[in-house]
Amino acid sequence: MNDRSDKRGPSTRAVHAGVPAAVQGDPVVTPLVSSATFYNDPGTAEGLKYARYGNTPNHEVLAAKLAALEGSDAAIVLGSGMAAISLTLLAFAGSGDHVLASRQLYGGTLELLTTELPRLGIGVDFVDMDGRWSEALRPNTRLLYTEIPVNPTLRVPDLRPLGAIGREHGIPLIVDATFATPINCRPLEHGVDVVIHSGTKYLGGHTDLVAGVVAGPEAVIDEVALKRKRFGPAADAHMLWLLERGIKTLAIRVERQNRTALALARWLADHTAVDAVHYPGLEGHPDHQVARELMDGFGGMLSFVVKGGDGAALDVMRRFELIAVAPSLGGVESLASMPRYTSHAGLDADERRRLGIDDGFIRLSVGIEDEADLRADLEAALG
Ligand SMILES: *Cc1c(COP(=O)(O)O)cnc(C)c1O
Repeated sequence: MNDRSDKRGPSTRAVHAGVPAAVQGDPVVTPLVSSATFYNDPGTAEGLKYARYGNTPNHEVLAAKLAALEGSDAAIVLGSGMAAISLTLLAFAGSGDHVLASRQLYGGTLELLTTELPRLGIGVDFVDMDGRWSEALRPNTRLLYTEIPVNPTLRVPDLRPLGAIGREHGIPLIVDATFATPINCRPLEHGVDVVIHSGTKYLGGHTDLVAGVVAGPEAVIDEVALKRKRFGPAADAHMLWLLERGIKTLAIRVERQNRTALALARWLADHTAVDAVHYPGLEGHPDHQVARELMDGFGGMLSFVVKGGDGAALDVMRRFELIAVAPSLGGVESLASMPRYTSHAGLDADERRRLGIDDGFIRLSVGIEDEADLRADLEAALG
């Protein structure tokens, strides 16, 4: 699917990759083809086109664009990030198998791993951020799973030794790179086998769609496609069209968000009302060096801990005027949330602290607004 001779830069790929060669009179923008089914030859089962199979015009353009951005052989778009994660897990693991995952993960992924997988007979073990993966391997371990950067503490796992462990044992390393985007990190360049995104976030970029992406080797994507056909979380044409449109501006949005987030992180680190700032671009971040080696930008997500605990943090959240209080991330508008009430609400206080989510923890998704306006809103809210 991917044209590996495509040596153009990421901004150019975001705009042009995947789009078929045009002739005079063709539309410049991929038309939205909302037909659920397509005419076919009555005498053959070959080449049947149907929206749930993903062989529609909007899906094919977008999948090729995403493969080009990740540098993968192939890619697939699914109905949500959780669909991408669950179908990828099911593509590799079944009853009697074992999954080894980072303990620091998106709350929805943690929930999937701890509730649904055991019901399917799949064992799951977790490894702490600085833990030893090779010691937790079992003979029936079928995959290693982590995120980059990790939600919501923005730790950055070194993917290279993890990939090496996987290769040594013939086990794929799967990484959810939603927070990084292919502009800031292409995990396949660092020994990762399969990369996943919630397209709902930066790829879509406008907080108006729900989507998931898997990119990797052709055989893996074919298996995920088979799971999509059987379990059903397909992408609809309107979402695909919006997602293609959103991705065209991915590079410029992410570059702006990288810049503003770094400036705000530095400013917050010196603020007297703030106890701690978690941002991989800060020299004091525990994974700063790893982030410099794996990432082209440090991302638009930052977290900070307000002095005075959850009560003080709630006061800050209620005083935001420009920054919207809402879950989700990666859109053009800045959003703030407290993980204890959103993505990590299912955990008790001890579990949260173990993950590094201290009382007073606020997660900020930096949008594309002017830095000075965001700083002013933070300043007013922090009092
Ligand atoms: C939001 C998110 C998901 C889930 O994606 P949906 O599109 O909401 O299903 C998975 N991983 C990460 C890191 C996320 O931020």
